[in-house]
Amino acid sequence: MSRYLSEKYSALEVYTPGEQPRDMQYVKLNTNESPYPPAPGVVEAVTAEARRLELYSDPVCADLRDALARRYGVARENVFVSNGSDDILNFAFMAYAVDGAPAFFPDISYGFYRVYADLHKSNYRQIPLKEDFSIDPQDYRGLGGFIAIANPNAPTGMALSMAQVEGIVQSNPDGVVLIDEAYVDFGGESCLPLTAKYDNLLVVRTFSKSRSLAGARLGFAIASEGLIADLDRIKYSTNPYNVNRMTLAAGVASLESDDYNMANCRRVMQTREDVAARLTNMGFEVLPSSANFVFARHPGTDGGMLYRELKKRGVLVRHFDAPRISDFLRITIGTPEQMETLCAAIKAILEG
Ligand SMILES: *Cc1c(COP(=O)(O)O)cnc(C)c1O
Repeated sequence: MSRYLSEKYSALEVYTPGEQPRDMQYVKLNTNESPYPPAPGVVEAVTAEARRLELYSDPVCADLRDALARRYGVARENVFVSNGSDDILNFAFMAYAVDGAPAFFPDISYGFYRVYADLHKSNYRQIPLKEDFSIDPQDYRGLGGFIAIANPNAPTGMALSMAQVEGIVQSNPDGVVLIDEAYVDFGGESCLPLTAKYDNLLVVRTFSKSRSLAGARLGFAIASEGLIADLDRIKYSTNPYNVNRMTLAAGVASLESDDYNMANCRRVMQTREDVAARLTNMGFEVLPSSANFVFARHPGTDGGMLYRELKKRGVLVRHFDAPRISDFLRITIGTPEQMETLCAAIKAILEG
């Protein structure tokens, strides 16, 4: 850091992304990417747009917003798209939880909520998960402030029902409730239908996981016209062209083959159930997952050790050195072959 950097940033504890090592080929199960390639038509659409890079992208993102509106049965005015859903989370904290405004999110959740809360000087409180690592929806009733919940939650994979989310949204009419549905296509219950009924509900989604486009950076939000207009104000105050041409085209093409994406999600869910059963057989405690990863610990085995031993054997998983979860591994669901390699490596470590 230079001595010129504002104290606002120099004191900030930044987000640590999962490692993307280059030293060797790993079985990469650490950042919840899809093991399957993007939908047919995506590469062609991106290539065609690459020939027009001298032109700015469409700041309205009309084609993609219309495609999403059709896919989810809402109007274009209810859809916002951005450069990854992280961008939208940032905008939401900036819009609703800035300069001391109250914000609430679980103590164990997506790490970026805390970073954005710090960045925007939210007056935030982290609400502990229950003993079984689930979210108690009662804890979020009538809080009177901005609320961010990942549903399914990360890194636990555990989900709330739409009815439970509705209770939270309904009891907080004076605050925006952001539901981050990054993993909902893997078996969660989406609360999208509630956006027609509640003007304070902001549903955030991403193309990164269920649509195999992590590298394209594409996220979207669905909400009341008012909330979407708020996000637009922030976007037009920062970077109106924040989704590039190739990514806009990738998104439209991906939705044209959305059956392919949803079929991949079902494959991942099937693999997840197989892996969860195998890990359980090896003595692991596996939290019930509605996501494209499992969160598991082996009684009497140090999580950090397991992580390091797996890495030595070429298998990369995510380990969080944090209170309550330091013995857990978050394991992305890959192809059946990749999970075979994982299970064999774990077996060798436990037996060695
Ligand atoms: C992966 C993830 C995101 C970020 O998604 P991008 O669209 O790739 O920025 C947001 N929220 C949660 C809970 C995630 O796991």
